[in-house]
This record gives sequence, C-alpha cells and structure tokens, in this order.
Amino acid sequence: MRYPAYFFDLDGTCYRGSEPVPHAANAIQQLYASGAQIRYGTNNSAADPTKTCEKLKGMGFPCEPEWVYGSGPTTARYLVREGIESVFVVGEPQLHETLRGFGLAESDSPEAVVVGICRTFSYELLAEAQAHILNGAKFIATNQDPTFPMEGGALKPGAGSIVAAILTATSVEPTVIGKPNPQMILDALFDLGLERREMLVVGDREDTDIAAGLAAGCPTWMVLTGVTFELPGGQDGGDDLRSII
Ligand SMILES: [Mg+2]
Repeated sequence: MRYPAYFFDLDGTCYRGSEPVPHAANAIQQLYASGAQIRYGTNNSAADPTKTCEKLKGMGFPCEPEWVYGSGPTTARYLVREGIESVFVVGEPQLHETLRGFGLAESDSPEAVVVGICRTFSYELLAEAQAHILNGAKFIATNQDPTFPMEGGALKPGAGSIVAAILTATSVEPTVIGKPNPQMILDALFDLGLERREMLVVGDREDTDIAAGLAAGCPTWMVLTGVTFELPGGQDGGDDLRSII
C-alpha cells in the first residue's frame, strides 16, 4: 500500500554511521519518484538538518534541509512553547547552537537542564546538571535511546546512557522530547497539512520509532537493518526498505 507521505528514522533505517543501509536510498527514491512526500526524523540531538541533508544526498537519498526533523530543534520549540528562556546544556556543540538559534540563553541558574548525546560527558558536567536539577531546574532529555547503531553493526552509547546517569544522581525523571514522544511526527504532519493515517512512520526501533508513530496515530513499518532483528508480533515490516515498495 502506498501513502501520500513517509517519515523515516535515520540511524539504523537509512544509514549506520557513515555507511548507507543497503537498498534504503533506492527504495526511498522510488517512493519520491512516484509522488510521495518524504520526511526524515532523528533522535540524534547532534544532527544539524543541513549537514544531515548533505549526508543523505551524498548517499543517494532524496532530501532537502526542511525535510529533516531532529530532537534538537523539536526540544528547542518545546522549551520556547513552555516559556523557558535559560538553559544548562549537556550536549554536543550542535545542540548548544540549535538552542541558541531559538533564543535560549545558557545560564548559571537555568530554568531547564537539556541533555542529549555528549561525547565529552564528564563527572563535572554530571555534578553541574545534578546541582541545577536539585535546585529546581526542569530535566529535559532530547531522547532516551540507550545506544545507536554504527558501521558494521557496532553499537555506541546513546543519549539515554547519559540521561540515566543524571536520573540516578537526582532521582528526577526527565521529560523526553524525542521519539517515543510523537512531537516531531506531529510537527511533520502539521507542516505537510496531512492526516495521521496518510503518513507511514518507518524505523528500526520499537520503543522509539514505532511507539512514536503509534502515539501520533500513524501507520507504522519496522525494518530489521538497525537494532532489532525480529519483527514483534503483529508489527508490519520487513527485512529492509525494499519491503515498503
Ligand atoms: Mg533508528
């Protein structure tokens, strides 16, 4: 069955690190050529839509920068809607830049601590985040993915590993903005002017991609090219993206 629009996860669905997932680009190109709208959504808070778009195009995927939804911009929009103006950031330079771009100022007495993937994470950052949250700052996680898939099937610790350290140090549960929160899928539907049933949400992870798609009220499709190697009972999907053609 064909849909007017498709929302694809990136890591483990379109690529693994710098390696394209076999058959993915060709399948999405075919959907695009047949008139479908294509959107991409990633929980990776270090992803910049323009660079992500260049990476996808370089691998043969159809893409424009405004087709890419990330947990960084989605988190920034959420904070602005909540009236939050000051933040402490545990994340990569791109997340700092994204939040700044939405007018959020970094502060020593922040209203919110925002946590994403942070490859320079340290005990000192953990202690600072803990102090701010125990002082009443809101604990906001861009996502809670425990791992992300790399070239050759390897795994690296994801933002969820860092979020878990801060949760342990504070006993405070974070508000999680990335998938399984459906926000970025709802943003894409709104931008496209489509109904929930008109966009197929495709991903490799049941607890984030599929859960977010279901929470958004969209049909879902799982591929086994990332962190999952068997379809859960009752879940539509296939081995790789050739299965959606
Ligand atoms: Mg994935």
